[in-house]
Amino acid sequence: MRFTRLRLNGFKSFVDPTDLTIAEGLTGVVGPNGCGKSNLLEALRWVMGENRPTAMRGEGMEDVIFAGAATRPARPFAEVALSIDNSDRLAPSGFNDSDTLDISRRITREAGSAYKVNGKEVRARDVQMLFADASTGAHSPALVRQGQIAELINAKPKNRRRILEEAAGISGLYQRRHEAELRLNATEQNLARVEDVIEQLA
Ligand code: ATP
Repeated sequence: MRFTRLRLNGFKSFVDPTDLTIAEGLTGVVGPNGCGKSNLLEALRWVMGENRPTAMRGEGMEDVIFAGAATRPARPFAEVALSIDNSDRLAPSGFNDSDTLDISRRITREAGSAYKVNGKEVRARDVQMLFADASTGAHSPALVRQGQIAELINAKPKNRRRILEEAAGISGLYQRRHEAELRLNATEQNLARVEDVIEQLA
């Protein structure tokens, strides 16, 4: 799986539709201060399911929508689409029936986010799992933001371990275990209730 194209529309400073080809071998983005380098990286994290406003340097998720400038009004929505070359068919099952994966996320003011994979609506969790299973994603150590190297050096062992687990592609399994535990708890509670009812009837 290789990222091939990133399209932005109304996302942060990218108010006009912007189409970026991600050529093979691209490892970094350079440009003058404030030109939008970090916004590009944030767009990548965001389309992969990032849901922490702080990771987007904002106070709320709607802060990613173009907020307006002296000469341009604010936009009502923001959209980011990421194209992935899946010709090696390494995408997780359920997403593995085409050579290209087009993943998009759109946020509309006061209406929240909607995700699509190849034009079909999916849940945020589906997109997060897709990337978690492919050893990448919003928290991927492959996306290095400013100050991250210093954070890594000063990180506590537990946090460093989380980074290694992301890289090893097992973070999706932790998420699935957590969901299975929640279902198990709910089932145990239901069983206890059934036992109470049986006792009352006996
Ligand atoms: P540096 O090299 O200084 O870190 P950079 O190239 O990484 O800069 P970014 O931080 O990506 O630049 O972009 C900052 C610009 O994006 C600022 O001009 C800021 O006003 C603009 N910006 C961020 N969020 C929004 C928004 N919601 N609406 C409009 N503009 C925004």
